[in-house]
Parts: sequence; structure tokens; C-alpha cells
Amino acid sequence: MSFARHDTPPVAVIGGGYAGFAAAVTLARGGARVTLFEASRTLGGRARVVDKDGFRLDNGQHILLGAYAETLRMLRLVGVRPGVLDTRPLTLAYPGEACELRAASLPAPLHLAVGLLRARGLAWTDKLAMARLMRRLKRDRFRVEADRPVAALLAETGQTDKLCRLIWEPLCIAALNTPPERASARVFANVLRDSLAAGASASELLLPRVDLSELFPVPASRWLAMRGHTVRTTEPIQAIHAEDGGYRLDGDPWSSHYAHVVVATAPYHAAPLLKPLPALAPVVAQIGALRHEPIVTAWLAFDGPLDFPEPMIGMSGGYGQWAFDRAALGGPPGLVGIVISASGRHQQISKEALEIALLQELQAIVGPLPALKWSQLITEKRATFACTPGLQRPTTRTPEPGVWLAGDYVDPDYPATIESAVRSGVSAGRSILKRCGLKEGSLFRIE
Ligand SMILES: Cc1cc2nc3c(=O)[nH]c(=O)nc-3n(C[C@H](O)[C@H](O)[C@H](O)COP(=O)(O)OP(=O)(O)OC[C@H]3O[C@@H](n4cnc5c(N)ncnc54)[C@H](O)[C@@H]3O)c2cc1C
Repeated sequence: MSFARHDTPPVAVIGGGYAGFAAAVTLARGGARVTLFEASRTLGGRARVVDKDGFRLDNGQHILLGAYAETLRMLRLVGVRPGVLDTRPLTLAYPGEACELRAASLPAPLHLAVGLLRARGLAWTDKLAMARLMRRLKRDRFRVEADRPVAALLAETGQTDKLCRLIWEPLCIAALNTPPERASARVFANVLRDSLAAGASASELLLPRVDLSELFPVPASRWLAMRGHTVRTTEPIQAIHAEDGGYRLDGDPWSSHYAHVVVATAPYHAAPLLKPLPALAPVVAQIGALRHEPIVTAWLAFDGPLDFPEPMIGMSGGYGQWAFDRAALGGPPGLVGIVISASGRHQQISKEALEIALLQELQAIVGPLPALKWSQLITEKRATFACTPGLQRPTTRTPEPGVWLAGDYVDPDYPATIESAVRSGVSAGRSILKRCGLKEGSLFRIE
């Protein structure tokens, strides 16, 4: 093991979400001295634990994919054991519609082809239409030159109503958190390329068996502390100022001088930090132009177990989109999470009416429900940026030489996900190391 050295550049990371910790670990592995500032008491940002009435819940149920290569690498690096992720083949199961598409455990493209052949509840016209879209994307190497809404791509390739309703729309909303009528076909094609079309293991569903803070931010924080780096919670930074060829931060209790600063906050929190730096005015404007989409998670605790055929099942025709049996994922018996991604008609009814509707929808799928003991609706109003066609996004590198951006909104190819957040953090960390003549991993004898 190797420790932070005092002859290497001090770097500040602002934000203790997945992007911030990916940047901090990367920098530490290259020998930079890292101080990470997190405004909240809890680590994880938009993927964090919430303690409520004795329940340890996530702010929103998250799904990871086998294709999240950088996230999985980071988990390994900070010592997270593989068992914390429940891994199973991609399965889109709608018990309420007797419809199920399950990827076969075969190499690509057979996993999908065989899965499609065996799919239940889809007619031949549906299966042929799905194969047509995948073939067309493959022919074009998953490049969508003229970006347009996903709905337009689906219409051009003659996707059936059932496929749109049960496969494409739910996948698009789950991955891009934007409805197909407004979602970018280019980004959606990238997601399909790296998941469905990439092979059985890339399309696997990975469902956390621990809370989202415990999955990566907390072990990463421990890993950094053990190597002499600093992680400060409840320490909000207000602004970044250029000074003596480096930077000082408003809100830093030590008023330290940093050679580089990684801004790893959500985009809407980044703009005020960057404003004092005139060179960053165009970046601030770009960030200001991003629009955001909500995600609602209804946590329902029942007085007994429920009869889920899979830990994750699709819901259709109502407000709910996916239901998760948390008991099958290491949670307490009877705990269910129902997710509603993106804006939609659920925003037009009261919380109470929404909860009643979700209970009825759940009962229609899994049968009579045990008594409801407790419930909590968590709405993240700005869960992710709206991933619309032709969006201009800021990049990791900025016009200010020592200020870098990390976060789920800076990767031009991907929607806002844990993986894009981690990738951006790794990329910011590596760019700084390169600028300083350091290399990731070079200081470490034992990992
Ligand atoms: C309900 C919900 C469900 C989701 N589902 C999925 C899913 O299934 N799969 C998936 O891959 N992704 C999902 N996402 C998206 C994923 O959670 C985000 O893309 C990812 O967590 C973003 O990480 P980040 O590090 O870029 O930003 P954040 O998580 O927002 O982290 C930024 C951190 O910066 C801190 N901060 C802000 N301002 C300051 C300041 N001035 N000083 C110090 N600290 C500051 C914040 O407190 C926060 O901790 C979901 C998101 C939500 C909200």
C-alpha cells in the first residue's frame, strides 16, 4: 500500500457522488494528494442511502448492467466483494401480460436471438420487428448520424405497438430517463450497442444487495482515508477562485491552495461554483441550457412476503413501470420498490392517489397483498438531465486549465447513469495525472 505524498500536486474534488469518488480514487492511485468535499452528511449524491423510520432505503432503486465496466473496475479497486451485486440474465418480465423476454446464456448475438425466439407473449410480427431494428442498427454500426427522437427511429423501422409498449419505451425510459418522443436516438443506440448487442454478460442485470452509499462511495472513502487522503462531509464549497497559478475554494476551512479542482457535482450545482472564473462563462451557459427529468420511487413495506416471480418485474398500463422485491435482494421481508422514471401523467395526481393506484397495479400482478405497514414516496425532481436529440454537453476539460468537470452529464455518448458518472471521474483523474506527469497505478506495489 502507498500513501499520499507531500511532494505531489494537491487536488480538490468537489462532490462525493460516484463521479467524485471515481476521480478521487484515480488521482490517489497516481500519487496526487486528494481532498474531497461533500456538502451532505451522506455520501453518494443521487445514488445514496436514506434513513427513514428505521428503514435503510435508497433515494431511488437503481439497476446496473454488466456493461458498466468502469464501475465494476472501481468496485474491485476499493475492495468491494462481487457478491454485493445480484447478477442475472437480462429479463424483461411482465407477469400481468404473460410476456417475458430473457437473454439466453450464450455468446452474442445468440443470447438475444435465442432469447427472442423463446420469448413468451410476443407474436412473430413483434419478434421480426425487433430483429429488424437490431439488424439495422448493427448495419449502421450503431451510429445514428442525424440525431432524432427514439420514437422516430421506432416508427421508421416498423416496430409494433406491443414492442414499443413493453420493450422499447420501458428500455428507453429506464436508460435515458426521457420518454421516446423526446429521447435521443443516438444515445439510445449507444446504450443498445453496449448492452443488448454486446454479449450476454454485458446485458446482465446487476441489482445491488447493499444500499447505494455502501456499494461504492463509503468503501471508496475508507480506501482514500487509509492512504492518507481527506474526505470531508458537511463541507459545501461555494465558489472556486483562481489564485497564484492555482485555486482556492470558498468554504474550504483550511483555505488551501490546489493545483487542480475537479467539480463533480450535479450540473445544476456546478454553475455557481464556476461563475467567478470568467473563462468558464460558455461552460456555465451550456450547463444552464440542460433540462432535467424526475424519478419517483415508492417504497412499500408489507406485513409479509409477496409472490414475485422475479426480483424485478415490469408493470404496464398504469403509473408504475418496474417493481422490485427488495426481500430477494437482501432487504427486509415485504419491502417493495416501485419506480416511475421521467415526467408523465403521474405528476398530475396527489401522492396519496398515486400510492393507491400503485397498490392496485401491484395487486393485479402478484395477487392479494399483505397489509401495508409503512410507505414512503421519494421524488428526485432533477434525477438526471433530459437526454434529448442533438444536446450540446460540456466536456471534462474546460477552458480553465486547472478546473475539470466530472459527472453523469459530461460524457457525450451516454445518458446519465452511474457508469457515465464513474467514467467521467476516471477521465478527469487521468487527465490531471497526465498534466502532472503522473500515471495511475504507478505508485502502488500492493492494491
Ligand atoms: C431516483 C434515481 C434513480 C436512478 N436510477 C439509475 C439506475 O437505475 N441506473 C443508473 O445507472 N443510474 C441511475 N440514476 C442516475 C445516477 O444515480 C446518477 O447518474 C449518478 O448517481 C450521478 O452521479 P454524479 O456523481 O455525477 O452526481 P451526484 O450523485 O449528484 O453527486 C454530486 C455530489 O456533489 C455534492 N455537492 C453538490 N454541490 C456541492 C458543493 N457545493 N460542495 C460540495 N459538494 C457538493 C452533492 O451533495 C452530491 O453528493 C438514477 C438517479 C436517480 C436520482
